[in-house]
Amino acid sequence: MSATTRSRTPDRLCAEAVDLARAAAEEAAAPGVVGEHTGLVSEGDRVVTHFFECKELGYRGWRWAATVARASRAKVVTLDEVVLLPGPDALLAPEWVPWSERLRPGDLGPGDLLPTDQDDLRLEPGYTPEEEPPANSLVSEELRELAEAEDADVTAGAPAAQPTVPTRGSIASVAEELGMRRARVLSRYGLHIAADRWEDAYGPKTPMAQAAPATCQTCGFLTPIGGSLGQAFGVCANEFSPADGRVVSLAYGCGAHSEAAVMPKPPQPAAPVVDETRVDPFPLRPVRDSGSVPDMGDEETAELGHS
Ligand code: SF4
Repeated sequence: MSATTRSRTPDRLCAEAVDLARAAAEEAAAPGVVGEHTGLVSEGDRVVTHFFECKELGYRGWRWAATVARASRAKVVTLDEVVLLPGPDALLAPEWVPWSERLRPGDLGPGDLLPTDQDDLRLEPGYTPEEEPPANSLVSEELRELAEAEDADVTAGAPAAQPTVPTRGSIASVAEELGMRRARVLSRYGLHIAADRWEDAYGPKTPMAQAAPATCQTCGFLTPIGGSLGQAFGVCANEFSPADGRVVSLAYGCGAHSEAAVMPKPPQPAAPVVDETRVDPFPLRPVRDSGSVPDMGDEETAELGHS
């Protein structure tokens, strides 16, 4: 018996109750899956756990553990419990990860709902709880007074009470573009991680951009986007580009750049020149004596036509 013991010396009678422990393990396990006795450990005064090898497939390194005990001054050892426990080198399932941490981009299918936490770091309130815009906001009190003085169209009331489509060019429309009319908008953190993702996928460090003749910034297929991200990104609208319909960094580029290789126009042939002031003589019969100019008599000359 290879004895695995703690500093406490195991009780002698409990340590000797291997048969009792084995019988209990065999009763709990399927027949033939309880193997050799691999050790014991003292759990406390007159409490000992015996370990048996588990021969069940799929449970490599696991052990049947049968705990036995006896009362003080009693000679009879009784069974406490039997469990299957992983050993130090047991094959274990990976640690469980909550679904919210397992989720990957592209996992969301049609009809799926993905809730966002109230304190999602990627989002922040679209307006203050008092429905008062920040002092430096475009819809601040100072700017509102200024707009009123200029007879501008300023929409009063809480964002929720405002019309769905504000007048173009009004402060409300600017506020809507800034996200002031939504419950939550992207936080700085949300903006940064989005920019990092887009930069990784369609940024200047990608092999495509490194080999591109020019950047998207100068490409006619680039469609600008609004908001602060528009300073660094746009949308590619070239169906032949690998980034068609994607948000691309202005420093990205590809071989389909609008100005990279403009097709030359086909050469235009010169207009034909028709000289109507000259008569070109053509012989009606083959020339017999090569090298000599045929004698053009009156008869033949009469049959000549104009070119
Ligand atoms: S065609 Fe190429 S260079 Fe032009 S915007 Fe799209 S990705 Fe950028």
